Amino acid sequence: MSWVTGLARPAVTALAPYQTALWEPRLTRLHANELPWRAAADESSQGLNRYPEPQSRALIARLADLYGVDARRVVATRGSDEGIDLLVRAFCECGRDAVLICPPTFGMYAQCAQIQGAQIICVPLRAAEGFALDGEGVMRAWTPRTKLIFLCSPNNPTGNLLDREAVLILARIVTERTLVVIDEAYLEFAGTASLAREIAQHPNLVILRTLSKAHGLAGARCGAVIAHPEVAALLRKIIQPYAIPQLTVEAVLRILGPLQRKGFALRTRRICAERSRISQALRMLPPVRHVWPSAANFLLAEFTDATEAMRRARAAHLLVRDVRNLSGLPRALRITLGTREQNNRLLQAWA
Ligand SMILES: *Cc1c(COP(=O)(O)O)cnc(C)c1O
Repeated sequence: MSWVTGLARPAVTALAPYQTALWEPRLTRLHANELPWRAAADESSQGLNRYPEPQSRALIARLADLYGVDARRVVATRGSDEGIDLLVRAFCECGRDAVLICPPTFGMYAQCAQIQGAQIICVPLRAAEGFALDGEGVMRAWTPRTKLIFLCSPNNPTGNLLDREAVLILARIVTERTLVVIDEAYLEFAGTASLAREIAQHPNLVILRTLSKAHGLAGARCGAVIAHPEVAALLRKIIQPYAIPQLTVEAVLRILGPLQRKGFALRTRRICAERSRISQALRMLPPVRHVWPSAANFLLAEFTDATEAMRRARAAHLLVRDVRNLSGLPRALRITLGTREQNNRLLQAWA
């Protein structure tokens, strides 16, 4: 039995994958109960009357190329939110297994764990050290039932990168016993390398990537899980066979071509330039007490009166995120960087 099989839920290991209709584009499809005609206004290239190819090879190849990894390690998901859900459902037995999270962090890890009935172990990030990972705390709290450790780098909502070496040390300590999941939703804004390049040496690392943030495709719902081929195969077994809509596949192939990547780099640089401009400007404003350094496309700021700051933003027709309910941040708001004009409007509202 491989270590992946040992970690997964027995029911998932034993599960035979759902038999999808064969994918043979050269043959006429009289095997999937589809209509033979496309709808009059259907402008998709394949035709929306047809089911999409499960885990489209072209899409997987594009994602593998984008992230510089082997295609056998890639599972395409409806956003990385679905990746989180699949991992919890594949590895956590209800009422028995646990996930470990490091708050304040992205809410979906706990949400998916609760839905699955997995126990949640919390080891807070060290606020006094810029929300650094408490590696020793994680090891103290770890139990043999801990199937997944969710880490987010850059972390939402605090914006900081986790120390690469600390993550890798942790992965080595729990190797073959726990998957260490690194959510890199904002990595493009950080200007550092993905931990995906460590995955061959650290087989229990799982990387989550998304097209929703830096690639500007939140509405398309597309993300990727990058993992050991056996972990990837397990997730492919439980993902809905036709999870990724044909419209999304076509949009991603069209928008994420090699030619489009230059525009991507330009927009990312523009956001990063706004990040330094706005964080400096915010520090000068009377209602702002503190602005945390950020490696993402948002800033976390502490206010003297966050309620009043939100009210003034709204009066300027701007929404910012209230993150006061997250532990350790009683007066904090999270501000997504927008266009120069939008950011200026926010500064004016708080001036
Ligand atoms: C936005 C976000 C996601 C969700 O991304 P989708 O791909 O749109 O589901 C995942 N993780 C973090 C930390 C995020 O902030």
